[in-house]
Amino acid sequence: MPVGRALVTVVSMTASKTDGDKTVLLAAPRGYCAGVDRAVETVERALEKYGAPVYVRKEIVHNRYVVDTLSERGAIFVEETDEVPEGSHLVFSAHGVSPQVRGEAKGLQLKTLDATCPLVTKVHNEVKRFARDGYHILLIGHEGHEEVEGTAGEAPEVTHLVDGLDGVDALPDFLEQEKLIWLSQTTLSVDETMQIRERLHRRFPHLQDPPSDDICYATQNRQVAVKAIAQRCQLMIVVGSQNSSNSKRLVEVALKHGTEAAHLIDYANQIEDSWFDGVDTVGVTSGASVPEILVRDVVESLARRGYTSVEEITTASEKITFALPRDLRPART
Ligand code: SF4
Repeated sequence: MPVGRALVTVVSMTASKTDGDKTVLLAAPRGYCAGVDRAVETVERALEKYGAPVYVRKEIVHNRYVVDTLSERGAIFVEETDEVPEGSHLVFSAHGVSPQVRGEAKGLQLKTLDATCPLVTKVHNEVKRFARDGYHILLIGHEGHEEVEGTAGEAPEVTHLVDGLDGVDALPDFLEQEKLIWLSQTTLSVDETMQIRERLHRRFPHLQDPPSDDICYATQNRQVAVKAIAQRCQLMIVVGSQNSSNSKRLVEVALKHGTEAAHLIDYANQIEDSWFDGVDTVGVTSGASVPEILVRDVVESLARRGYTSVEEITTASEKITFALPRDLRPART
């Protein structure tokens, strides 16, 4: 079964509530976004078309289950391009890469397939355009995150990372005549990014806003869905990996909007009995790189603990899809 689309199916476990039932509120949208779906399918199709091994630079998406499943099928995940044998197929992950990495791959005559999410590519293009137009770019994002490294790598000499509110104070001074714009990583907390933007504007009144949002639709929708259920839950379980930025933001959003406790887990077997003291209602959601099968396992585990009434709260419907890299698209008939 593909790790991609087939596992995106929304679990439908809505059961009627009777007195005394303990409840699960399932946030929707949750799980796979269009960029993750495309990236995972890129590796699957590459394995089908070229045979194993297919190399992937970094985790294709930040999810343990997805990476392990693709590894079993013949994908080899590497940290850097120079680990890949000359002439092999190499997939760039959904988080994108800098021009330097593309150059290294070319030097090794690797056959590259680009699974960069088109919404990340959009931010790369903005960086290139504003750098060309003489701007300094204040890039709001998390230091060391692959997406930020790739985006900043488009114009490292004029890109300044702003990591959190404190990052604003750490910036150098800019003269009023220096053109200044802020952009952001795609998977940040919307609320925190707005706070950082305000602080940036206070420090640099001539700062320009970007032409459009960089925080992607999937990140925003998942945060809105969590906000909608957070106040009704004493406990929020977020399915996602520790290195997944958008999943970690869901934990923060839940805590900020009324949930008493929130935990990020990869698998249902990480749920601990001690979390449930005095808990009548558990919220469940998942990050944008999480297959629905992992959420289903969590819901089943909660049912075994007496949380048998399941209600799905939907705040948006998502229909967006992205075309595969050209070399992997099905032939037209
Ligand atoms: S989370 Fe957003 S930017 Fe990242 S892959 Fe999904 S759609 Fe693209």
